[in-house]
Amino acid sequence: MAASVAVGGARAAREVDVPALPRPVSAGELLPWALFFGVLLLLLLYFVGAEQGAASLVGGHWVHEFVHDARHVLAFPCH
Ligand SMILES: [Zn+2]
Repeated sequence: MAASVAVGGARAAREVDVPALPRPVSAGELLPWALFFGVLLLLLLYFVGAEQGAASLVGGHWVHEFVHDARHVLAFPCH
């Protein structure tokens, strides 16, 4: 969407298309998305860093094996 603006004064008036700026996003609109992605990141951090042994939510070792390389890259203790 573009807005038109008159330029050139009264003698040589003409309209030029100016691209419209995006609407500013308020903190109130941003907060639910920040909470949502924060929870997703914490869940991901849990599965990468703590999903094993007694703290395991999912039975077996497949989650641990699936995130094993990420675990070492992020320096979580493993084996
Ligand atoms: Zn390991």
